[in-house]
Amino acid sequence: MCLILFFTMCCFTELVFAKSDSELKDELNNNQNSTKTIQENLSDTQEQKKAIQAEVELLDQELAVVEADMDVINESLAQTEQKLTNTTLQLNDVETLLNIQTEAFKNRARFMYTNGKLGYLNLLFSAKNFTDFVSRIEYVNRLVIYDNSLVSGIKRMQNAVAVTLGEIEKQKLEIEVLVTQKAGKQRSLEETLSQKTEVVRKLDADEQEYLRQINGLDESSKEIERILKQRELDRAAAAAAANKVSSVPYTGGTVAWPIPGHSRITSPFGNRTNPINRRGEFHTGIDVGAPTGTQILAADDGVVVTSGVMNGYGNCVLIDHGNGLATFYAHGSKLVASRGQVVEKGQLIMKCGSTGYSTGPHLHFEVRVNGTAKNPIDYLKG
Ligand SMILES: [Zn+2]
Repeated sequence: MCLILFFTMCCFTELVFAKSDSELKDELNNNQNSTKTIQENLSDTQEQKKAIQAEVELLDQELAVVEADMDVINESLAQTEQKLTNTTLQLNDVETLLNIQTEAFKNRARFMYTNGKLGYLNLLFSAKNFTDFVSRIEYVNRLVIYDNSLVSGIKRMQNAVAVTLGEIEKQKLEIEVLVTQKAGKQRSLEETLSQKTEVVRKLDADEQEYLRQINGLDESSKEIERILKQRELDRAAAAAAANKVSSVPYTGGTVAWPIPGHSRITSPFGNRTNPINRRGEFHTGIDVGAPTGTQILAADDGVVVTSGVMNGYGNCVLIDHGNGLATFYAHGSKLVASRGQVVEKGQLIMKCGSTGYSTGPHLHFEVRVNGTAKNPIDYLKG
């Protein structure tokens, strides 16, 4: 009487809402379309990246040239500045010399005029005779000429150095203009380079993201293909099993065929793949496909132990035939026999349906011996 406790749910599943084949095929198709679109984006991105990388390479070369130019110009600027320093020092020296010489000349002239003994006049008037006087005038003249030429020589030198200094300063200014220009060029190249590098970095990130998406879609497609393939194999195996079982004569055995007029076994007894969740399980009975409302008959005389709704089985009937033998009928659209009723072999007990966990109208039929599920076919055969 407590056999029912040991029953395994026939078509139980937590994946009642599993996707159908056509939904999976749609998904596969969508995956392939998405992959195509992403691959196009990926190619575009890779082309853009390639083009910009080529630009970056050119900019790098250009920048290297500008940097080399800058080195040369800076070197020349340093040399010019050194020259400028040297020339300035030289000019200072000349000016110092000029000051000293001018000062010495002034002193000598002042001394000659103020000192009676050595003054020009004294020098002239202390002449002993006319010849001496003439030679003394000549001496004085030479002294004056000497002083003058010395000073003007130094002045000429000063002018020459000042001219050189001016030229060097002009050169320096020209180089400085060049430095400014080149530095501007360098800055602009560096800015462009950094912008392009940033673009390459972004394209790189895009590329990685596209590849990641393609991989994800690929994985998903493989999984869908695997499931579809498995379902196909399961269906082929189930069809082969059904054909084999269907050819067995069903009457004349211990129990009678419970659903006359319908012998298509959609799922045999034993190990199978659950039709809803696709998992392996042990099927404790046979499923016989038949339209809703088809009469289901008691397989033997007995007492109705259960007639009601059980989770998973929907409307179901359990009949105890005595000697440890019981039969079970599930997924009915309507219960006819009631609990405690004594029924005869071939009496209407239920109508076929698809209640509980079921993929379509069928009868789930079990034969139990002392609570253990047996292959009903063995009890149906003569
Ligand atoms: Zn079943």
